[in-house]
Amino acid sequence: MINVLPGRKKTIREIDVRGKRVLVRADFNVPLDEDGAIADDTRIRASLPTIRYLCERDARVILCSHLDRPPGEVVERLRLALVANQLSVLLDRPVLALQDCIGPEVESTVAGMSGGEIVLLENLRFHPEERADDPAFAESLARLAEIYVNDAFGASHRAHASIVGVPERLPAVAGFLLEKEVNTFAGILQDPERPFAAVIGGAKVSDKLEVLENIVSRVDLLLIGGGMAATFLASRGYGTGASHVETDRLDAVRRLEAKAKDLGVRLLLPRDVVIAKRLETGVPFRVAAATDIPDGQIIADIGPGTADEFCRELAGSKTVIWNGPMGVFEIPEFAEGTRRIAAALANLRGTTVVGGGSTADAVTRFGLAEDLTHVSTGGGAALTMLAGKPLPGVEALDDAEAP
Ligand code: ADP
Ligand code: MG
Repeated sequence: MINVLPGRKKTIREIDVRGKRVLVRADFNVPLDEDGAIADDTRIRASLPTIRYLCERDARVILCSHLDRPPGEVVERLRLALVANQLSVLLDRPVLALQDCIGPEVESTVAGMSGGEIVLLENLRFHPEERADDPAFAESLARLAEIYVNDAFGASHRAHASIVGVPERLPAVAGFLLEKEVNTFAGILQDPERPFAAVIGGAKVSDKLEVLENIVSRVDLLLIGGGMAATFLASRGYGTGASHVETDRLDAVRRLEAKAKDLGVRLLLPRDVVIAKRLETGVPFRVAAATDIPDGQIIADIGPGTADEFCRELAGSKTVIWNGPMGVFEIPEFAEGTRRIAAALANLRGTTVVGGGSTADAVTRFGLAEDLTHVSTGGGAALTMLAGKPLPGVEALDDAEAP
């Protein structure tokens, strides 16, 4: 059972899949490099437990996913054949890539499958009907199978046809990855081992306000870094140089600080920052007090004093959620703050969870992903859960039977 409120949802364990045609909505939206090759196959590997489970039970496994953002038509370099190849290597068995995701040819191929076979439908977003949650399109997908499994956590915040339309039409359950993701976030939000700390960074406070507003009432400690620290510093009346301040969010930030104070939550801003004239590699940079940022200078990272303080604070935590890098980690000069936090979490004896596309990318680049409890495969979906909002893809699944 999937441990999410409101209502518990059925998982793949609670349905008889033996010999059945099972449509699995996976999240194979992998990053591609300039040559069009898969740059990181984490999301493909994360889908393996569900696929293996189905194969072991002689199910006919029909996989589907989107890749990137094709404009509702075929884009040759976004065909899923490259994912099928990689899956086939990882599973050590054939995975047949189909040329489309719906239609008579797909139907006849699927009708001819034997137990344990795997096919991968073509990129769902080659059809504009996927994003539109078009009923006829959902019906065409549903017609291919007897059971629907959602294992696409990273797409479950979207009300698209393969996420919410298909489960209206078939018995619909959660796969192992979806279950693990949802239970991890639900678990730390509902019943964290304390002290519970959140580290929130990233470019803009406006992207994270809902998360901050939800999380402030659940954590004991809130550490703020990244570009959005500028708006917090400005809201306290400090000069922030040429850093981007979201002036339309100053009130919201002040309200958040007041709420933290009311609740007895310690909210820490950077005490020192790395500053530069431009966010580019090779530019001169230096450390400055966060209260004393000169004109024309931009906050690029938290400073070493802040990193020391944040790491010391985190060392006492039993649960940490981290969303948003501490600086512009893509530029080596400004990666140190993010690296220090990643290392602190990797060394922590407690539950450490990373949610957010860039943050996951950072910990993977530092080679520390394996040392954390959970690195989410979903960016937007993780933020949705951290904001305390339901995921349409989870809501659409069948309710578990009462125990
Ligand atoms: P996530 O994807 O993990 O949720 P965000 O999308 O909120 O994170 O933010 C990621 C981006 O924030 C990164 O590209 C990073 O370069 C940027 N960023 C971090 N610190 C700063 C800063 N001080 N100024 C500008 N951008 C920043
Ligand atoms: Mg992001």
